[in-house]
Amino acid sequence: MSEKTFHDLPLAEPLHRALGESDYKIPSPIQAQAIPVILEGRDLLGSAQTGTGKTAAFALPTLHHLHEKPCELEPRQVRVLCLVPTRELAVQVDRSYEKYGQYIDFKRLVVYGGVGFEPQIKALKEGVDILVATPGRLLDLQQQGYVDFSKTEVLILDEADRMLDMGFLPDMRRIIALLPKERQTLFLSATLGMNVQSLARSILNDPITVTVAPPSSTAEKVEQQVFFVRSTDKAKLLTHLLRKQIESGDSELTLVFSRTKHGASRLVKKLRQSEIKADEIHGDKTQAARERALDMFREGKVTVLVATDVAARGLDVKGITHVYNYDFPTQAESYVHRIGRTARADAEGSAMTFCSDEDMNTLFDVEKMINQPIPIVSDHPYHCTDLEELHLGRREALKKQAKANRPRRRNRGGGPTRVRRAF
Ligand code: AMP
Repeated sequence: MSEKTFHDLPLAEPLHRALGESDYKIPSPIQAQAIPVILEGRDLLGSAQTGTGKTAAFALPTLHHLHEKPCELEPRQVRVLCLVPTRELAVQVDRSYEKYGQYIDFKRLVVYGGVGFEPQIKALKEGVDILVATPGRLLDLQQQGYVDFSKTEVLILDEADRMLDMGFLPDMRRIIALLPKERQTLFLSATLGMNVQSLARSILNDPITVTVAPPSSTAEKVEQQVFFVRSTDKAKLLTHLLRKQIESGDSELTLVFSRTKHGASRLVKKLRQSEIKADEIHGDKTQAARERALDMFREGKVTVLVATDVAARGLDVKGITHVYNYDFPTQAESYVHRIGRTARADAEGSAMTFCSDEDMNTLFDVEKMINQPIPIVSDHPYHCTDLEELHLGRREALKKQAKANRPRRRNRGGGPTRVRRAF
């Protein structure tokens, strides 16, 4: 977090009032850097992942703009368009606009697929100041003549890298071609790979680039632990740990990651049999069921939510104190994204990872990526000593290898030598 307070930022009074009520005092680094640039009307290329406060970084200055320059909306008009990859993120961004803009007079709408068209069409007909949308549904609505982009002033692309990963590039290009050339564009992405940069270059006009801590720094705020366990014992171990957690009373909300939708459903059944209040979100559930489960979770009526990676993408729920990697993530990168669901903003959290036979290589990759060994918990009834020994052996071999590869340079100046850590 930077030293500036929100009062150092020239935002309209109703926004300061809403921030005060949300108990936001210090802008996060992306907010401190991006808000002044956006207020000046410049294009932005922001490299930041969820958890950094990126939503407020673009939502506050766009709301400020609407407050300073109110205008009569024409039918179907959209003043600010925010494109996002998933329904969950769309709902979340819309909620942020609602929260930060509670004392500002503006119209907002969120549109995504999987739900009826009618309410979305009805709202669009009156025109909206801020439209948060997933690309597919937005194009559908536009092609049916319900959206007019001719006076759109600001385009926001949130999680642009995910939109590319999910194959939205053609839809995004079609939408962008419909917007006025004279506009402000805010481009946010967790990663800035070649494809992302090439898209950014083609749509941004002389942008200011703002980069905040890469994903691996998220890992530093989270207490991480790994449990070596046989696959057949995982449900028993989870039940055991959740019971202990509930008894100790030091947990609020718990998010459990399952690799598959069926696995998630099976696990929820088992937890319920053990009288643990749990629910699930994944692609086989209807949109209404997913939203219901998320609301119950947010309100703390259900304290354990089992999710697949896709369903949990961008999920931002306050009070997630524990994350369980019940199934190990298939890629090392998703480990950091998953554990970033806890320890949001200034909070702290715990991430517990179950590691079975088939996960040993990925665990090794994760430790290399986060550049630290994950503490092992062996004090539980389902501990698998063989796996622990195997892993410790590999860590030791890596350390030896790193030592052997280190160049043998003499430190003539007598100052400190730089040593690359094995982890
Ligand atoms: P985001 O990266 O936009 O998904 O935000 C992550 C979380 O941090 C959300 O729960 C926000 O409500 C919270 N947050 C964002 N900015 C701040 C801030 N300056 N102070 C405290 N919490 C914040």
